[in-house]
Amino acid sequence: MQFCKPHWDKLQEMISYHGLGSLVSKDGITAAKRAEAAKDGLTVANFDPLMGAHNRLIHEFIRVGGPGIIAQDDCPVCLGNHTHKENCIQPCCTFSYDAWIEKAAEEMKQVWDELQRRAKEGTS
Ligand SMILES: [Zn+2]
Ligand SMILES: [Zn+2]
Repeated sequence: MQFCKPHWDKLQEMISYHGLGSLVSKDGITAAKRAEAAKDGLTVANFDPLMGAHNRLIHEFIRVGGPGIIAQDDCPVCLGNHTHKENCIQPCCTFSYDAWIEKAAEEMKQVWDELQRRAKEGTS
């Protein structure tokens, strides 16, 4: 399962929109190291909003699509939109899973604020 270019770009764009762009890991090695460190608990040092939002979205798509969705090659957002369109009985429906991308980025902003708050209080 991999996000298509437009949806991945959209995710990055939304992360930047919330002012978290500079927190995204610059390369795969950094991202992997942070992911490893984050297993013991998320901190300001290991937080990666892009990976965080990505994981959040995967989690949500598994929730609605079942674990089998991971085995799909298609972009989960496109797949979700396509499936919805085929099954939706509402005329002129404007529902789109694209909104989840915005929501996931928004949540990462909240997580970041919380991490910063905890770091300032010295309880992180
Ligand atoms: Zn897509
Ligand atoms: Zn619909």
